[in-house]
Amino acid sequence: MVTTHNLGFPRIGTKRELKFAVERFWKGEIDQNALELQGKWIRTDNWKKQIEAQQTYLSVGDFSWYDHVLDTSILLGVIPERFGTHEPDIHTYFRMARGRAPIGEDIHACEMTKWFDTNYHYIVPEFQRNQHFQLNGHKLFSEIAEAEQLRKPIKPILLGPLSYLWLGKSKQNDFDKLLLLDNLLPVYTKILNKLSELNIEWVQLDEPILVLDLPIQWQNAFKNVYQHLQKSHLNILLTTYFGHLKNNTQLACELPTAGLHVDFVRTPDQIENVLQYLPKDKILSAGIVDGRNIWRNDFRKTLKFLRPLHQILKNRLWIASSCSLLHCPVDLDHEIKLDADIKSWLSFAKQKLAEMHFLSTALELGDSAIEKVLKENESATTSRQQSKRIHQSDVKKRCQAITPEMIKRKNPYFYRKKIQHALLQLPLFPTTTIGSFPQTQDIRSLRHQYKSGKIDFNSYREKICHEIESAIDKQIALDIDVLVHGESERNDMVEYFGELLDGFAFTENGWVQSYGSRCVKPPIIFGDVSRPTQMTVDWISYAQSLTTKPVKGMLTGPITILCWSFVRDDQSRFETAKQIALALRDEVSDLVAAGTQIIQIDEPAFREGLPLHTSDWDDYLREAVYCFRLASSGVDDAIQIHTHMCYSEFNDIISSIGDLDADVITIETSRSDMELLKAFEQYKYPNEIGPGVYDIHSPRIPTVSEIVKLIEKASDSISIQQLWINPDCGLKTRDWKETESALKNMVTAAKRLRDKYKSLNPNDVALLSTG
Ligand code: GLN
Ligand code: ZN
Repeated sequence: MVTTHNLGFPRIGTKRELKFAVERFWKGEIDQNALELQGKWIRTDNWKKQIEAQQTYLSVGDFSWYDHVLDTSILLGVIPERFGTHEPDIHTYFRMARGRAPIGEDIHACEMTKWFDTNYHYIVPEFQRNQHFQLNGHKLFSEIAEAEQLRKPIKPILLGPLSYLWLGKSKQNDFDKLLLLDNLLPVYTKILNKLSELNIEWVQLDEPILVLDLPIQWQNAFKNVYQHLQKSHLNILLTTYFGHLKNNTQLACELPTAGLHVDFVRTPDQIENVLQYLPKDKILSAGIVDGRNIWRNDFRKTLKFLRPLHQILKNRLWIASSCSLLHCPVDLDHEIKLDADIKSWLSFAKQKLAEMHFLSTALELGDSAIEKVLKENESATTSRQQSKRIHQSDVKKRCQAITPEMIKRKNPYFYRKKIQHALLQLPLFPTTTIGSFPQTQDIRSLRHQYKSGKIDFNSYREKICHEIESAIDKQIALDIDVLVHGESERNDMVEYFGELLDGFAFTENGWVQSYGSRCVKPPIIFGDVSRPTQMTVDWISYAQSLTTKPVKGMLTGPITILCWSFVRDDQSRFETAKQIALALRDEVSDLVAAGTQIIQIDEPAFREGLPLHTSDWDDYLREAVYCFRLASSGVDDAIQIHTHMCYSEFNDIISSIGDLDADVITIETSRSDMELLKAFEQYKYPNEIGPGVYDIHSPRIPTVSEIVKLIEKASDSISIQQLWINPDCGLKTRDWKETESALKNMVTAAKRLRDKYKSLNPNDVALLSTG
């Protein structure tokens, strides 16, 4: 049979067993033994699934209590001094991950950041200038011993040395991380030697940075490192995934490793380049089962791709998942309530293992060997291609009929500004919040009762209205200028809209690890998106009916809905985003018709959608801006459009942020001490900005003077007439006590600033804004 393998299997367990065990361990409800047992159970279960699907190699080393990059740091002895110098144990591990463990004092955790362009987050390695590395192989080698008892060939998985270095950060002043290779390589060599003593044939070294634009020094380092590592008697399978190898194609192919894995799901067109450079004796592991999306493999199409490859490469061709299956939910069999049609179009991690087996069989023995399976696969594929539930001709027509006028406001900002200001009559330094207010247990159980049918819509509405009323009362008492309704009807900012839009499906158990014990259940966009009914108008109108102050309408933007869902693979992301944008555009227009003057369209995932290769950025940014404007531009000049983004890197995308042409943008800045406003200053950002004045992730209450100071600092970069005052992000994770105290200080700070600048006459203020 053609060799099959996966690049890693989800570690959370079929029913999120890992999450529950780890969280109980943190709370002290179970001890380390019980935790270890749960881990062992999950690993065994994962291997069982791989054996059932006749995978040639079992993946080992992909299991993790929290994150596999953190595991690599422990494996290599990269433990910052503040965590102590003793041998790292599970408590050290969790303290590094989250600053807290059952044993040991609370401590400043290591940084966490996004894993390439996925929604998975890893713990950033911290390097010192003379970083010492040392093998702590306990976890890896005991898992290998565990797997060996199953008497199947195993393939340990390690993060490769260059990707590991690339992903880490030097805490002191910057130095060239490549200088650390001299100390790092001996540890990798030691690991490989130990593996070969165990008679292991293949080891998987992940080098995902090969799909990035690498500096020449790093490309050269690849040659030296793998020259060095090939001396071990192991076969190294070098894996790349998430994109096109582009400039690194020849390099990746020619490195002295026994095998190379390439992602042909994301970029099938790189096959020709790869074949051109692949040495005659090298294994090619073809990633053709999608590790990042939930669609069932189209066997006919895949076999058409694989057959000529198989003819050329014979047993040098392996079949694999495109990347680790970590980014997929575990098992479709656990979806009981999912619509049967939709379910027949899907495949989760376990099903993907089976897909590899069928593909392998068909390649080796011919289609007839899997005739029944092939037929069934074909009919599911056809049903998906032709389903009336997917293809809505009116939606498609509407997308085709988008005109350039639809993505432009009627007049430029400087003109709109006057109309909006005259209408809204807001003070200097207007105050607002980002949208959500504390999600109390009461609110959560209320939504739960409604969803499970325990209460009907009328009594649900009545109770939510009560929440809105209390949120409005509190904001009036705090004397905030632009109010929000509080988002108490929303469990999640994407799920809420997905549930009301056509073209979305939801799973019961489709969990995917986001970081540590946190899992998310992304909606599935399966069909053309349209809006059968208004989504927010009733709530916003109710809130507005309670006050004469403006209440912001609150929507999630098209790019964020796209990025945080499993998306269609049968049309471009841009096409899907346009459909979402059109649905939002209708909502915007209904909000305006109901009397809303300010509408905020959140795009926290705007930056997240950036492609890995900078050469692809322009296209993405153009399309993302287009979709935001399609959603937001169908309103009169008097309507003030806000957007919100919560991260602190704008330098490289600032001109696209400007192109959004939102009247007001609120952003996260407090943690970066307003430094990021420099990007807005240099760009001469003309519209209004609300730089977040306090960090909502922390329970700490900001003082009045600290907020005043931050705003004064902000005014170094941005004219005071452009400044709004607001927190960094939504307040749903905080409690009311903290929230009220913090907002009280925020409003007092705004008033203090107004007093200070009141003495200036309007001309002076205007001068200030230009100087
Ligand atoms: N309006 C959302 C909220 O306040 C924004 C959340 C976000 O930026 N992630 O919760
Ligand atoms: Zn935010």
